[in-house]
Amino acid sequence: MSVTLIATGGTIASTADAEGRVTTTLHGEDLLAAAGPLPVDVEVVDLRVPGSWNLTSELAAGIAGAARSALLGGARGVVITHGTDVVEETAWLCELLVRDVTDRGPVVLTAAMRHASEFAPDGPRNLADALAVAATPHSADRGAIVCVNGELHHARWVTKTHATGLATFESPGRGPVGEVSERGVRFTAAGPPPPPPPPADGSVVGDIPIVVSHWDVDADLVDWHVARGARGLVLQGGGAGNVNGRLVEPIERAVAAGVPVVGTTRCPQGEVVPVYGGDGGFASLHALGVMPSFGLSAGKARLALGVALAADPDPVEVRRYIEALEVRA
Ligand code: ASP
Repeated sequence: MSVTLIATGGTIASTADAEGRVTTTLHGEDLLAAAGPLPVDVEVVDLRVPGSWNLTSELAAGIAGAARSALLGGARGVVITHGTDVVEETAWLCELLVRDVTDRGPVVLTAAMRHASEFAPDGPRNLADALAVAATPHSADRGAIVCVNGELHHARWVTKTHATGLATFESPGRGPVGEVSERGVRFTAAGPPPPPPPPADGSVVGDIPIVVSHWDVDADLVDWHVARGARGLVLQGGGAGNVNGRLVEPIERAVAAGVPVVGTTRCPQGEVVPVYGGDGGFASLHALGVMPSFGLSAGKARLALGVALAADPDPVEVRRYIEALEVRA
């Protein structure tokens, strides 16, 4: 059984031109050739998708769909090469859409901070590590994993923390779930419980804006998004999920109109909790029907809401889906 490599671009597949501008130029086979002796047979799928910051939820669901097809087709694991900027979102979408078949093998996403024309690029080593993880039988049943810089991070928790630094990926408050070293592939911590089953068609609803709260936020934004047909809304508040009080009335109108709303915090650690009352306190929002994101960032919360809506748009089912994402341990 072979591992499937799904190549999507990003710095790992990029080189600099004569002016020093970095763009994706390399294909899956080029990446493999640079990754040294392969620990396993590899089948390459080159997905022609735009660079990571130009993806859409629909295109990312296509990447997850390719991973799913590979596992259902008998691959022992899948490696996805990706841009670092939003690899955490694609990884999380893979967790939501593919986790139910990862008993067959893992989905391992990898990336690089140094492009292939730089001195000592990190891509080849990251890819070699990711292939080793994908080929290891004890990687199965752990869902979607990001493998970078010798560390394994679960899709649920991983985030890019430094704009340009090499050791940029962290799982704040959780830490890595494993490592790749001279001792091989080792898992050192459990991941989260699996999410609910994915929608039968593997899709995600993309029309879910993020409203970022700040002192001078324009509250009309909420009504504007609802009027133009947003299917759900994600709020990014501060601390335990509190948002500026002028957002409350429009949020109440959105919830009353049947638009599901999820609250998140800009804090990289901890979760939204219904502690504070008053204008915009998350306890007040919660009482209006705003759902907590259980530690998901705004970017990941909107994907969870999008998958919930694609699975079943009934508001009761959407709430059930989101509440099933709580991690109690
Ligand atoms: N800086 C990014 C990368 O590491 C660019 C991207 O996300 O596509 O690939």
